[in-house]
Amino acid sequence: DRHPDPQVVPDPSKKTLVILGTGWGSVSLLKRLDTENYNVIVISPRNYFLFTPLLPSCTTGTIEHRSIMEPIRTILRAKKASVKFYEAEASSIDPDRKVVRIFDNSEVKGDMTETEVPYDMLVIGVGAENATFGIPGVREHSCFLKEIGDAQNIRKRIMDCVETAAFKDQSPEEIDRLMHMVVVGGGPTGVEFAGELQDFFEEDIKKLVPEISDRFRVTLIEALPNVLPSFSKQLIEYTESTFKEEKINIHTKTMVKKVTDKTVEAEATRPDGSKEKIVFPYGLLVWATGNAVRPVIKDLMDRIPAQKNSRRGLAVNEYLVVQGTRDIWAVGDCAVAGYAPTAQVASQEGNFLARLLNNMAKTEALESKVRELSSTLNLEPGNSAEISRQIEEYERQLRRIKDVKPFHYSHQGSLAYIGSEKAVADVTWFNGNVAAAGGLTYLFWRSAYLSMCFSTRNRLLVINDWIKSKAFGRDLSRE
Ligand code: FAD
Ligand code: NAD
Repeated sequence: DRHPDPQVVPDPSKKTLVILGTGWGSVSLLKRLDTENYNVIVISPRNYFLFTPLLPSCTTGTIEHRSIMEPIRTILRAKKASVKFYEAEASSIDPDRKVVRIFDNSEVKGDMTETEVPYDMLVIGVGAENATFGIPGVREHSCFLKEIGDAQNIRKRIMDCVETAAFKDQSPEEIDRLMHMVVVGGGPTGVEFAGELQDFFEEDIKKLVPEISDRFRVTLIEALPNVLPSFSKQLIEYTESTFKEEKINIHTKTMVKKVTDKTVEAEATRPDGSKEKIVFPYGLLVWATGNAVRPVIKDLMDRIPAQKNSRRGLAVNEYLVVQGTRDIWAVGDCAVAGYAPTAQVASQEGNFLARLLNNMAKTEALESKVRELSSTLNLEPGNSAEISRQIEEYERQLRRIKDVKPFHYSHQGSLAYIGSEKAVADVTWFNGNVAAAGGLTYLFWRSAYLSMCFSTRNRLLVINDWIKSKAFGRDLSRE
């Protein structure tokens, strides 16, 4: 009857804490959580953490994808008490029965592919999926830019377009189409990707495939009147003028309505307010129009009456508790706490929740000590002075611990790379806002990301990739 791994047996005296996801929110929580206080179970279809800010650099091979991945097993090994990890997707959450239904969606499947995991406490950090607004053709024909697989797809596709354009006797119109790279969405994802793409072309493709180089074009399509709507006006202008120099065509006030395998159909609003239909033939289409709610979250929202009016995700209170539930918290892009869906917000929320859960465990431990001592007071009258002193001391500690202030987000600033070794930054400095742009900002951008990169191993890998691609050029192999 011996269990093969004694650590797998949950400690019945501890509560089971289930954490969904291995992204910014969940991993920040895990890093600071005192895991010995709970039976911790992590569930995610991805067995690694992904450093998303450098994902656009993977689409062109400036950085190799494994440099920005950190295995969750390595992160968990560093914890004091063992943590269970299941590589699985949560398909539904039942807040009444307190169970999460999970299934194995990976390629290799065993006899057991679907089961339930009971929880006492649940933290949801499943992020968001790509918004397509139901626009026809988008899912079938576009590349997204959210996961490692997306970046690999894009990298392959860019080279496929280039090699196909260079194919013997390809017609000029077809070369133009294949060499036209269209990006939909002028938020930071679309802008950073367009910048990286232009660098790739200027620094490498142009030299190595000169015969088609004058046909390469990047177009960025944005429905609003300007790109980077969340940045300051000055930086928007700087980005737009840099893009002009880089020969990236920006089409603002242009809304994509339909996508086919070779064209993007959009409606542009002219200055006089009239509408114009534009058709963009493309070789590569990258769709970056922001976030949509994941089905597992939608399903949970439908089960909770208090979430009836939530649209963009799970409404949470100032302690990140999912409104209308007990013992469920949400962090990051799947939670609506009044902040933008960014890594900065998700990681601060994760850190906050770690503090909260650590405190809750300490509180419970102290309260049970107080209860225990109080019950012995009458039994040991000779010792009562000492017992009272201990109770007082525990109560003093309790008062200190219980004082957890609500979550407060502290914005450190926004940074975006815009190509040609330039970046834009809205930074909060000494309580004031500073807008910076250009080459120095780019150096700041690099060092800021390097210091944020989680492990020393990742930091070294990223530096190595930067040096390698600068010294030898990016690798053009289509793989
Ligand atoms: P994620 O980091 O997306 O993690 C979600 C996790 O949940 C993943 O592990 C996923 O596999 C898992 N999961 C998904 N479905 C399920 C399920 N059903 N059950 C269990 N687990 C599930 N923000 C910044 O602040 N600065 C930046 O520079 C920046 N750059 C970005 C660049 C790109 C290209 C992108 C796409 C985003 C960028 N962001 C940036 C935004 C940032 O990445 C997100 O806001 C952040 O990842 C949100 O963290 P999260 O933990 O909510 O979700
Ligand atoms: P976003 O929501 O910031 O931007 C999407 C853009 O697509 C919007 O400007 C929207 O007007 C446009 N759009 C929507 N539908 C359209 C259509 N049919 N046709 C044309 N344009 C359309 O999305 P994102 O850039 O993916 O960013 C998502 C989140 O991640 C944001 O919170 C962002 O701040 C964060 N992020 C930050 C960084 C950074 O700080 N460097 C980088 C990437 C992402």
